[in-house]
Amino acid sequence: MADSAYLWSMEIIENYLRHLCGVENVKCNELLAKWTTFRVGGPARYLVTVEQKETLKRLISALEYLQYPYFILGLGANVLASDQGFDGVVIKLNFKQIEQNDVFIYADAGAKLGAVVNYAREHELTGLEWATGIPATVGGGVYMNCGAFDHCMADVIVMVDVLDHGEIKTLTVNQLDYGYRYSKFMDEPAIIIGAYFRLAHGKKAEIAEKMQIISEKRRQHPHEPSAGSVFKRPKDGFYVGKVIQELGLGGYTVGGAQVSPQHCNFIVNTGNATCYDILQVLYHVQDTVEKHTGVLLETEIVFMGKVD
Ligand SMILES: Cc1cc2nc3c(=O)[nH]c(=O)nc-3n(C[C@H](O)[C@H](O)[C@H](O)COP(=O)(O)OP(=O)(O)OC[C@H]3O[C@@H](n4cnc5c(N)ncnc54)[C@H](O)[C@@H]3O)c2cc1C
Repeated sequence: MADSAYLWSMEIIENYLRHLCGVENVKCNELLAKWTTFRVGGPARYLVTVEQKETLKRLISALEYLQYPYFILGLGANVLASDQGFDGVVIKLNFKQIEQNDVFIYADAGAKLGAVVNYAREHELTGLEWATGIPATVGGGVYMNCGAFDHCMADVIVMVDVLDHGEIKTLTVNQLDYGYRYSKFMDEPAIIIGAYFRLAHGKKAEIAEKMQIISEKRRQHPHEPSAGSVFKRPKDGFYVGKVIQELGLGGYTVGGAQVSPQHCNFIVNTGNATCYDILQVLYHVQDTVEKHTGVLLETEIVFMGKVD
């Protein structure tokens, strides 16, 4: 009896997703390995692409009413997905509009951060060059407070539109409790639907030159699939990659997962890594660093599905 009730609700959910989002936008049992930069992860029961904010609003209301799990996925550049996959709806936002008004840019959450960086250059707006080459959507960047070269999203964001308990609200940057790779969305989930950036007038050639320099620096990062830096910097002056390297962990390998010898705060997928392999490497690094320094490294990457 319980089983048939479950199957009945599955059928309802599947039909509802197809009806609301369009048949072509609903994939069943889609491997998350295709949608994360680690190239790891089992099947998502549903992976749904949402084209319109109004559709998102209706979708979230329904899923919350049904208490059906969902996960908003950007580029999957900071996500370690379980080998068992995700038993719920993975939602990709496909609204990507970018607009300018004087020194302000508004970008939809589904836009790539790189597209916003290029747009700023084309409109002679400076202040976002540091984000060149960070793989992110605007939503993922705002959520993670991603950053590089001593800058981060908190420096340029002024307001964010969110979907929270069925309502679209605008939050100011002060309401986001931004900290190092931290936003309040990590403790009080809401769906980011767009963000307003404040930049400054600049010269296209100078902006392009800064972006070029940053691109060159990024070329030195590992090229294998990864999620960027795995661990957060625990305090000023504690360079995680350097500490891991000095402990001789560069190249440490389990299955297809390896501490990149090139940048020891990256765990890379050398070809056939599983989530399990990555976790074994991650735990070994965490334990070894704690044993030698007394510092327990906190992860920067986000876990999806059951990963322990
Ligand atoms: C090669 C490489 C280099 C990297 N370099 C850097 C770097 O220099 N600096 C840096 O900070 N990071 C870096 N990263 C990590 C990654 O790029 C950032 O964390 C980025 O912000 C992730 O964005 P995303 O769109 O891929 O989000 P995802 O990884 O898809 O998601 C991350 C989290 O954000 C949530 N999320 C995504 N969109 C929304 C939304 N619309 N509403 C609510 N929640 C949402 C997800 O649910 C998840 O919890 C790097 C990663 C790689 C692979």
